[in-house]
Amino acid sequence: MMPLKIALAGIGKIARDQHVPALMASPEWDLAATVSRHGTVDGVESFDDFDAMLQARPDISVVSLCMPPVPRFDYARAAIEAGRHVMLEKPPGATLSECHALDALARKAGVSIYATWHSREAAMVATAKAWLAGKRLTSLVVTWKEDVRKWHPGQTWIWEAGGLGVFDPGINALSIVTALLAEPIRVASSELLIPENCDTPIAANLTFTHPHGAHVSAEFDFRKEGDQFWNIAIETEQGNLVLSEGGASLSIDGVKQSAAPGANALHGEYPRLYANMAALVRAGGIDMDLSPLALVADAFLLGRRVAVEPFVE
Ligand code: NAP
Repeated sequence: MMPLKIALAGIGKIARDQHVPALMASPEWDLAATVSRHGTVDGVESFDDFDAMLQARPDISVVSLCMPPVPRFDYARAAIEAGRHVMLEKPPGATLSECHALDALARKAGVSIYATWHSREAAMVATAKAWLAGKRLTSLVVTWKEDVRKWHPGQTWIWEAGGLGVFDPGINALSIVTALLAEPIRVASSELLIPENCDTPIAANLTFTHPHGAHVSAEFDFRKEGDQFWNIAIETEQGNLVLSEGGASLSIDGVKQSAAPGANALHGEYPRLYANMAALVRAGGIDMDLSPLALVADAFLLGRRVAVEPFVE
C-alpha cells in the first residue's frame, strides 16, 4: 500500500520527541511537510504558514496538529475545509464546544478526525483493561505528580487560560481511567490550587461519583521534585491492580506483569497512535472520544479556587 502523505504542524517538544521519530520509522507514513513559525525537520519541506502549505501541497491528505490547544482549532478547521484528514494532539481542543464543532465539520466534509490520547496506548493499559473487565470496582485512586520545571520548561502557554495547567498531564490519567472503566464517572468535587500569577492550576484534588458507589479520586500536582508519580491504583472485590509510570508498568495483586504477546508489536505510544490514524483514514472513520476533556471541563466548572504562591520558573 502507498504510504499516506502527512504534514506535521507545530514543531515543538512533542513533535520532535515523538511524532517525527514515529512517522520516520513507519512504512505507512510519508512525512511530506512541516508547518511551524520556528521549527523545521531536516530533509522535509517546511512552511511557516498553514494556508500556504494547504495550497502548495494538495497531494498531502493528512495533517497532524501538535501546537498547544488554544490555537489548534483554527488549524483544524482550515485543514478540514481543505478536505484533509486531521489528527489532534491531546487535549483535542481548548473547549468542548470547539471539539464538537470539529467533529461536525469533519462529518460534513467526509474526512477523518482523530482525538488522540497517547497515554491510552501506554504498554500495559490494554492488559489492565482486560483484567478489570467484569470485576466489581471498590476504589480507584489517581496520583499524578511531576516537576513542571523538568517536563515543561519554558512552556508559558500552560499557565495561560486554556493551557490547562496541571490538567495538561492530568488529562492523560483521565484518558486512561475513562478507557479502563466500563461505566462513566462524574466529577463530584474539585479543588484547584492556582498560583497568584497564573490563570491555570498548579495542583488539583478531585473526587468522582461512580455508578456503584466506588471511591474514585485524583490528586494532580506539578510541584513534585524528586520521585515522580504517574500511578493509578485500583481495588476490586476480586483483587487489586496498580498501573504506574503512566501506564507503562502494571502489577496485579502485588505481582509485576509483562505485556501480553502482541501487545507491544508497535513499541511506544506514538507508533500506535499513527497506526490507529492510518487505519481510521483508510476506513473513513472518526474517533472523537471527548470523555477525558469533559471531566477536566467539569473540574473547572465545579472547581473551588484556592490561591497559592506565585509560580516562578
Ligand atoms: P511546545 O513545545 O510549547 O509547542 C509546540 C509548538 O507549537 C511550538 O514549538 C510552536 O511552534 C507551536 N505554537 C505554540 N504556540 C502557538 C500558537 N499560538 N499558534 C501556532 N503555533 C503555536 O508544546 P509541546 O510540549 O510540544 O505540546 C504541544 C501539545 O502536545 C500540547 O497540547 C501538549 O499537551 C501535547 N503533548 C505534549 C507532551 C510533552 O511531553 N511535552 C506530551 C504529549 C502531548 P512555532 O512557534 O515554531 O510555530
